[in-house]
Amino acid sequence: MKLDLRPLLAGDKLLSFDYELMLDTDDEDSLSCLSDASFPSPMKVSGDITNTAGYMRMRVSLSVDYESACARCLTPISGSFTLDLEKTVAPRDVLEDLPEEKLDDYVIIDDGFLDMDEQLKEQLELEFPSRFLCHEDCQGLCQKCGKNLNDGECGCEKKEIDPRLAPLQKILEQMKKENKN
Ligand SMILES: [Zn+2]
Ligand SMILES: [Zn+2]
Repeated sequence: MKLDLRPLLAGDKLLSFDYELMLDTDDEDSLSCLSDASFPSPMKVSGDITNTAGYMRMRVSLSVDYESACARCLTPISGSFTLDLEKTVAPRDVLEDLPEEKLDDYVIIDDGFLDMDEQLKEQLELEFPSRFLCHEDCQGLCQKCGKNLNDGECGCEKKEIDPRLAPLQKILEQMKKENKN
């Protein structure tokens, strides 16, 4: 959605918005890094822009339901992600002199319009978790047999020993035995 900011630029004090944005994770240009998650319903967007003597401040709340999978054991995970943002709004020509690292605090008005969707997708890419875990200490899948180790041990040998380290491993085991005796 493009917000028409011309009334604000002409002196209005407040612009409120409330809409829904469908997120398409097949859209590789803007949402490629979210491809592990899918969004079955549209993202809810609400907020306002206030104009205080020409200084414009935007507050936005986002909320979107997602479906994904545990990064370790692949168990399906779903939840809802929310984000609150506050940014300064300024026309492009005002921002041209700003150093790049400061631009993150701003959203840009082009010819009196603000492209909200682009802004919000960018923010979502920055803030959305890059992976999910079913729980903190998820044991993951056995790399050998593929069993979900959260359901119990699978009986496979725990660790493959690098053949180059095998002689060292023997010495260590020998030392352990000697310590016990
Ligand atoms: Zn898991
Ligand atoms: Zn196994």
